[in-house]
Amino acid sequence: MAEPKENVLMEKITSLCKRRGFIFQSSEIYGGIQGFWDYGPLGAELKRNVKEAWWTTMTRMRDDVVGLEATIIMAPQIWKASGHVDTFSDPMCDCLLTKKRFRADQIEPQSGNAYHYTGAKDSVSGREVAEPYAVLLAAGKPPESARKTAAQFYAQRGLQAVELLGETVEKVENSQRYNPENGSLLTPPVPFNLMFKTYVGPTATEADVAYLRPETAQAIFAQFKNVHETSRQKVPFGIAQMGKAFRNEVTPRNYTFRSREFEQMELEFFIAPDEAVEAVTGAVATPAAKGHPGEPQPNWGWQMWHQYWVEERIKFYEGIGLPRTTLEEYWQKSEELAHYARACVDILFKFPFGTQELEGIAARSDFDLSQHERSSGKPMGVFDEELRTAFGKLPPEKQTELKDRYYQARLKYLTKMGVDIAKAGAEAQEDADGLAKGQYIPHVIEPSAGVDRLILALIANAFTEVTETDAKGKSETRVVMKFHPRIAPIKVAVLPLLKNKPELANKARAIFESLRPHMMAFHDEAGSIGRRYARQDEAGTPFCVTVDFETFEGIKDGPQAGVKDTVTIRHRDDGRQERLAISELLPWLLARVR
Ligand code: ATP
Repeated sequence: MAEPKENVLMEKITSLCKRRGFIFQSSEIYGGIQGFWDYGPLGAELKRNVKEAWWTTMTRMRDDVVGLEATIIMAPQIWKASGHVDTFSDPMCDCLLTKKRFRADQIEPQSGNAYHYTGAKDSVSGREVAEPYAVLLAAGKPPESARKTAAQFYAQRGLQAVELLGETVEKVENSQRYNPENGSLLTPPVPFNLMFKTYVGPTATEADVAYLRPETAQAIFAQFKNVHETSRQKVPFGIAQMGKAFRNEVTPRNYTFRSREFEQMELEFFIAPDEAVEAVTGAVATPAAKGHPGEPQPNWGWQMWHQYWVEERIKFYEGIGLPRTTLEEYWQKSEELAHYARACVDILFKFPFGTQELEGIAARSDFDLSQHERSSGKPMGVFDEELRTAFGKLPPEKQTELKDRYYQARLKYLTKMGVDIAKAGAEAQEDADGLAKGQYIPHVIEPSAGVDRLILALIANAFTEVTETDAKGKSETRVVMKFHPRIAPIKVAVLPLLKNKPELANKARAIFESLRPHMMAFHDEAGSIGRRYARQDEAGTPFCVTVDFETFEGIKDGPQAGVKDTVTIRHRDDGRQERLAISELLPWLLARVR
C-alpha cells in the first residue's frame, strides 16, 4: 500500500530538520530516548526567536501583563491543590501479547469478529492455563490467524503443544479493547499519572517526593499575591511565564508534537467576577459578534475577555507567519470541559499528520486561586476600593441579587470540591458578604501554548519544495524554508561574490561584523554563489547580502549608475534582487526582522 502523503511530508521534514540542524533526537548516540528532542544550531535560534516574540507581545508591549520565572520543582502540595496528583492521568493499557503500551483513548476503533478463549491446555503434559484471552480479526479473515495469535499468547504462559479451549465468536463494532496492529486483547485501561516524580534531599523517602512541573501555570497562581503586591498591577491584569514542563506521556508521538519534556508559554489573565463588574459598571458586556472585540473595556465580563484572548492569540500566530487559513478554532463542548471551566477554545494547526491542538485558551473561573487559598490557608483575594464604593451605592435589591449570584457560584465550587454543605454554605455567605465590601478571588483566562508544537507548526508551514530546471534541462528539487523574517533563525547572510578577491572578502566580513550585534547574521564564503543562496534558502534565511564588483566600482547602469558602496539584497521567497547603500542596510534589515 502506498504511504499516506502526509507521512511522506513528515519524513521529508524530519530528515531536513536533522540534516540542517533544526532538531536532533536526544541522546542519539545511545539510540535515543523516546519523547525527548534536542534543538540544533538553527532550531535553537528559531526557538529563541519564537519565545522572544511571545514574551515581547505578551508582556513588554502590554501595560497589563508582567512576567514571572519560577522553579520547575515546587512544593508538592501545589500539585495536590491543583488536582494533578489525583487526576492528571491518561488511561493506559498494554497489549497482552507484545506488551506494547497504548493510550486507551487514542486507539483507532476496530470492528470485526472477536475470537474468545476460556483458556488453553498443553496436549502433551495436560497442564491447563485458565486465563481468558481474545483476538479481533477483521471480517473475512480466516479464524486460523486468530488461533495462531492465541496459541502464541498461551505459549508465553508456558504451554508447548497448545490446545485452545472454549472458542466463541462475537461480532464487535468500534472497539478500543484490541491492539490495532495484531488484534490481541489489551489489558483493561488503568489511569496513569503523567507527572514525573523525584525526591528532594538525600533520604529519598515517600515524604521527600516532589514532581517536575507538568505545566508552568501553577507557579503563577502560587505567586499571585507576591506579584500582585509588588508589581502595582490591579485586576484585570496578567502574569506570563514560559519554561520547561514535563509529562510522562504514555505514547509520545508525531515527532516533537507530544514530547515528555517540552516548553510552555502561559498567561494567566486575572479578571473580576461578573458580579463585581456589574456592580461597578451597571451591566456586563458580552460578545455581540465573532471576531476581535477591540480594546479592553471596564464593563467586560469573562466572555469578552475570553474572546479577546482567543483573537489576540490568533493575531500573534498570524504575526509570526501562520496564516489564519492554517488554524482552526475548536470550542470545547460543555461535556468536554473541566468541571470548573466555563469555556475552552483550542487553537488547532493543520499539521501534516492531522489538525491538532497548538494552544488552549480556557476560562477557568476562580478555581485555581480558590484551591490554593483553601489548601495553603493564605488569602488569595484582592480588595477593590472602586467595587466597595460602587456596591454601597447600589439599590438594596440589586445588592441582594448580585450577592446571591456570587453566593451560588461560590457554593457550587465549594460543594463540588467536597466541602460539606453546612460549611460550604457558611463560607459562600462569607464570600458574598466580602464582595459587598470590595473583596473577591479573581477569575482567570488562561492562554496556554506549547513552544515545541509551535516550532513544529512553523517548520511544517515554512517547508516548501521548489523544482528548478537549468539551462541543460536538468531539473532539481530543493527546499526553501519560508519562515517569517521575525522568527527566521538567521536573518541575513553576508556573502562575498568571490572568495579569492580580498577586497570583496574583507568588505563582506566588515559588513557582517557590523550587523551581528543587532541580529543573527551569517558569513559564508565557500562555494558558488548559487549554492550559497540555496544553503541559506534551506536554513530559511530571508535576506542574502552580496558584496560584488559594483560595490567598489559603482553601479553599472540605470538611474543610480556610478553610485558606490552598495550591495545586492536577494529575497529568499522570490529570488528578487535589489541594490541598497551599505549605510542603509542595518535600518532596512531591522525594519523587516523585528
Ligand atoms: P493534549 O490534549 O494534546 O495532551 P493538553 O490539552 O493536555 O494537550 P494543555 O495541558 O492544555 O494540553 O497544555 C497546553 C499546551 O501545552 C498545549 O496546547 C500544547 O501546546 C502544550 N503541550 C501539552 N502537552 C504537550 C506535550 N506532551 N508535548 C508538547 N507540547 C505539549
